[in-house]
Amino acid sequence: MDKEQNSVPAAGTWNKEELLEKDRERLWHHISPHNPNPVIAVAGEGSWITDIDGNRFLDGMSGLWCVNVGHGREEIAEAAAEQMKTLAFFPLNQSHVPAIRLADKIVEWLGGDYRIFFSNSGSDANEVAFKIARQYHNQNGEPTRHKFISRHRAYHGNSMGALGATGQANRKIKYEPLGTGFQHVPPPYCYRCPFGKAYGECSIDCARIYEDVINWEGAETIAGVILEPVITGGGVIVPPPEYLSKVREICDKYGVLLIVDEVICGFGRSGKRFGHQNYGVEPDIVTMAKGITSAYSPLSATAVRAGLYESFKEQGKDNHFRHVNTFGGNPVSCAVALKNIEIIEEEKLVERAEYLGMQLEHKLNALLECPNVGDIRTFGFMAGIEMVESKQTKQPAAPAKVAQVLAECKKRGLMIGKNSDTVPQYENVLTLSPPFVTTDKELDFIVATLKEAFATLLIKSS
Ligand code: PLP
Repeated sequence: MDKEQNSVPAAGTWNKEELLEKDRERLWHHISPHNPNPVIAVAGEGSWITDIDGNRFLDGMSGLWCVNVGHGREEIAEAAAEQMKTLAFFPLNQSHVPAIRLADKIVEWLGGDYRIFFSNSGSDANEVAFKIARQYHNQNGEPTRHKFISRHRAYHGNSMGALGATGQANRKIKYEPLGTGFQHVPPPYCYRCPFGKAYGECSIDCARIYEDVINWEGAETIAGVILEPVITGGGVIVPPPEYLSKVREICDKYGVLLIVDEVICGFGRSGKRFGHQNYGVEPDIVTMAKGITSAYSPLSATAVRAGLYESFKEQGKDNHFRHVNTFGGNPVSCAVALKNIEIIEEEKLVERAEYLGMQLEHKLNALLECPNVGDIRTFGFMAGIEMVESKQTKQPAAPAKVAQVLAECKKRGLMIGKNSDTVPQYENVLTLSPPFVTTDKELDFIVATLKEAFATLLIKSS
């Protein structure tokens, strides 16, 4: 694979040792033990990242499932600079042009009648969804509806409510008590069905369980269900095709709001504009972040079905949503999002993601020959490769084996990810979510590199 075409900053621009020393002294790395030798990235172009030594890596995770239009987009930088010069900030208790235009564009992409509330991050967007759902029920004559149902293995963010909704204990232990009122149901995980069934011979118990929990808790206490179209960071757990519509039916039956977290799946990652559009359901609330700006600037949004907004807008009543977010929906991030979406439309990147996803699924199948690959799951242009010790027992692969594949990929210039889970033993799913601008040749490089990396497991163990 040609890894030479990127423009690397001039030699001597950086003093690596000095920077590393400062990194070790001053910087607190996210969600990991401090790595004394981190990759220090200095540039990005297309699907590639360049580090301080001039090494190039294919960014197989688009950063954190977010740089969907690829790195180094000058037109986005120009849109940001232009907006900063014109109007850098104005609060959204009133309005500004980029926010109005972006809200309208998001509604067009959702294909339904929604009202848009802007924030900064995926966690913020989910907090907003919870508060709106509770206030909606309160103002709608059902003040006891305050609980939310979410799934084990799902991640919904780092703040106290979003972490409450998260179904991975190791992210929560040491920080509890979190926001209260969150119940969890088992994930729709056919490879390791929590109900001990096989798809085709089950009654989609993973969806039916919501009805049980609603009844056990008392429907009059349930405000909403929150779920991603597929569980992404928890291991690319793709539900049976009828799952989401069944959950929608149950929500309707009990007056429970359906909140769909599209923080990762939104803006094309699923091969459609939004992940839920693959399943033909209309959510009550949709939360989105990451791909909204392809991470060129922080921004998130909570889209609320227009009918729900009715109870917040009547004049002369004390019923408005008491939530403000200084940076949320700032003009620069909105201008960046508008340019990002324009690029996705002009370059037909949703269609490209769908095509790349189909190619990836097809090409990854070859990996099933590896003794340590138990299951491969794809959804749009993302994939999870579940590593096992034995295909028969499905015992999760030892952490050292997972680490070896990750390291061998990196050695060959490919950065990929792995899932997070409560039990380290179940952090055995390699994840892929490359930029939508990945070329066919680059896709072949990804698959060939994975094959080589898996082959090293055989060499070491024989
Ligand atoms: N929801 C999902 C599905 C996510 O994957 C994430 C982050 O990875 C979040 C919410 C939280 O987003 P943020 O990190 O922007 O707060």
